[in-house]
Amino acid sequence: MSTKTAIVTGSSRGIGRSIAINLASNGYQVVVNYKDSNDIEQAKEVLKKIENTGSKGLLCEANVATAEGASTLVSQTIDSFGSVDILVNNAGIAKDQLFLRMTEEQWKETIDTNLSSAFYCTKAVIKHMMKKRFGRIINISSVVGLSGNVGQSHYAASKAGLLGFTYSLAKEYGPRGITANVVAPGYIESDMTKNIPEEASSKLIEKIPVGRLGKPEDVANLVAFLVSPKASYINGQSIQVDGGLSF
Ligand code: NAP
Repeated sequence: MSTKTAIVTGSSRGIGRSIAINLASNGYQVVVNYKDSNDIEQAKEVLKKIENTGSKGLLCEANVATAEGASTLVSQTIDSFGSVDILVNNAGIAKDQLFLRMTEEQWKETIDTNLSSAFYCTKAVIKHMMKKRFGRIINISSVVGLSGNVGQSHYAASKAGLLGFTYSLAKEYGPRGITANVVAPGYIESDMTKNIPEEASSKLIEKIPVGRLGKPEDVANLVAFLVSPKASYINGQSIQVDGGLSF
């Protein structure tokens, strides 16, 4: 069996980093994507960890909030590895703002980064996956997409949008051997959540039945399962990784 290739968008840090390293340790070739050139050192460190597992990796600086960036990411992957089998749409931002103060620019930045990026990247890989009659698409949403949250109307809308997007892909491309699923994390320790004040964090933990924030690895373990042959009959699902916070 040939080695499969995975693209993980936004994998220089946090959840994406953990997904990239986990997939590499499961034998996949992994493309590490990031947007900001300031992130190059962190991305290189992820690449090193990938190579330490014995798998091949590739760094790709590309802004997936644009069609051009997504197209560059996919074409560099195919040039280097000849294939894309797995796409994890993970890149995201959370820049909280109350709705009354939210500008159109803030709305668009969040929707472009969190939702349109999944459209652009999927658009760039789908024909390739259809030809192979194989593909695994995982979209990283959030429990906030299910419940909403104060100061996050743009973020919640982007994450809820990923649900409908994924369910539709699952129906359109399931017959072509391509599955699409959503992973919806709760509160996970990363740069995105590091500025939650201590007091708010303690109150939050009280509401989480397992009694702690999640770790990036908690999300990565589910993604690794969903792209594996063991999950080939799972399609069009959304699974929360939130310690029981939202049920
Ligand atoms: P993070 O630590 O802030 O990392 C975000 C990653 O996305 C970075 O690698 C960043 O690279 C990349 N990125 C951002 N915009 C990009 C763009 N336009 N093009 C390419 N890469 C881009 O965030 P995280 O906590 O790991 O979150 C990862 C995903 O999980 C996000 O979609 C987030 O919404 C979701 N999520 C997180 C939590 C949580 O509690 N942490 C909960 C639910 C869902 P650069 O720095 O180079 O831009």
